[in-house]
Amino acid sequence: MNVEQPARGTDLFSGQESTLNIVTRFAPSPTGHLHIGGARTAIFCWLLARHFGGKFLLRIEDTDMERSKPEYTESILDSMRWLKLDPDGEIAFQSRRLALYNEQVDKLLSSGHAYWCGCSPEAVESMREEARAKGEKPRYNQACREKNLGPGPGRVVRLKTPAAGRIVFDDLFKGTIAVDINELDDMVLRRSDGAPTYNMAVVVDDALMRVTHVVRGDDHVNNTPKQILIYQALGLPVPVFGHVPMILGADRQKLSKRHGAKAVIEYREDGLLPEALINYLVRLGWSHGDKEIFSLSELIDLFDGKNLHSAAAAFDPEKLLWVNARHLHGKNAQELAALVLPFVRALPLAPEGPDAEILSELERFIPLFQSRSSTLRELARHLSCLLVPADKVEYNQEELKKVLTPEGGEHLERLRGVFAALPRFDRETLHTALNQYVADSGAKFKAVAPALRVSLLGFMGGPDLAEIMQALGSAETLARMARTARTATLQ
Ligand code: GLU
Repeated sequence: MNVEQPARGTDLFSGQESTLNIVTRFAPSPTGHLHIGGARTAIFCWLLARHFGGKFLLRIEDTDMERSKPEYTESILDSMRWLKLDPDGEIAFQSRRLALYNEQVDKLLSSGHAYWCGCSPEAVESMREEARAKGEKPRYNQACREKNLGPGPGRVVRLKTPAAGRIVFDDLFKGTIAVDINELDDMVLRRSDGAPTYNMAVVVDDALMRVTHVVRGDDHVNNTPKQILIYQALGLPVPVFGHVPMILGADRQKLSKRHGAKAVIEYREDGLLPEALINYLVRLGWSHGDKEIFSLSELIDLFDGKNLHSAAAAFDPEKLLWVNARHLHGKNAQELAALVLPFVRALPLAPEGPDAEILSELERFIPLFQSRSSTLRELARHLSCLLVPADKVEYNQEELKKVLTPEGGEHLERLRGVFAALPRFDRETLHTALNQYVADSGAKFKAVAPALRVSLLGFMGGPDLAEIMQALGSAETLARMARTARTATLQ
């Protein structure tokens, strides 16, 4: 058998066939939540399919009965729904496809590409030891290859690896990869319990699902030559492969919680926007000039499987937050109101009332804090005090003490009189009235403004005072000022 692959061009998307019918797949094992490395692989697969008008398939690789858990499948699906990485067609579950794998193993047995092996695991281990002792690569010594054994208890099926040759493939990320067949073992295809091995199941699935581009984490790069041998033994077309480099921590060590990396669902709880997480993760392994911020439709337009980076990227939580802020600042108040509502409902100081009422209040207040917030959670926190009536506002006691001196209280009381008498309660009028008051009273702006700010918002910070008052409206503004002025006189 000639296992040398025909050389492909450098452009793995230029072939007419492949550009017209691109099929990608994401194949997570449900042994944990979806993390950012897996999410990035899924995003690449999804974008490739959407860019080329192809299909994006989802397959749950749940054959490891001990480590796979239905709750992880649910959690992965939930994360993908949140990211809006909608798969095409039915989701495939490997645990329900075992018969398909064995059918193909049987084909390989009858075509002479595979054989039954009766060597015990201990015997195989000592063959490996023996090879190691001779300074050779540990491997199975092919003891049963020519024995023509049939099935039997404890027997496995192995691939009859060709005696010599090279496997060559062009990787979307890593360029050309070549492996000498001598490096490869007669691998097990079916275990003694009848279950297929990972490599066998993946090849059968990818072939039956007509996957044209296998994009996955580069922890699988060593499996690819083995899988190519199985494709060839089955006489099936070999897909294009892409092995996505790892994401590392800033210290170039394996990414973990201590680098600030979280599961995708945790980012949802933190108030990140799915399109921002996608934007950030795509940029960790792909570039388009030095552009940093992309909308989803721009990514679909531009992501054509080129300009993929071969080096591992470092995860930077600060930059992720920055990208999120940029997306958040670009949204209109109506969109944001709907997105921030669940965060507002979960606040300790949650407003009461029907959704429609709170949504319209949110639309009014969001512009005050939109550009000052990086996440939906932070935005909700900033809006917290604006959404409840004056008597429910929870003041930051420390800041209140600092600014509500007897003098501050007196200014508040007098200003309240000034504002109450205004003919209009718009930003311009309020601005002029406040400046006039400061000039007339001979006080410094600094002696007046902080007291007013804490009185209105509950904390120091936020935008222009007149803007806040206009958004609150006169009744609410005056009620807040009255409440804090009273507190000041009690201090
Ligand atoms: N199930 C494998 C994993 O979660 C991926 C296998 C593949 O994409 O071929 O690592």
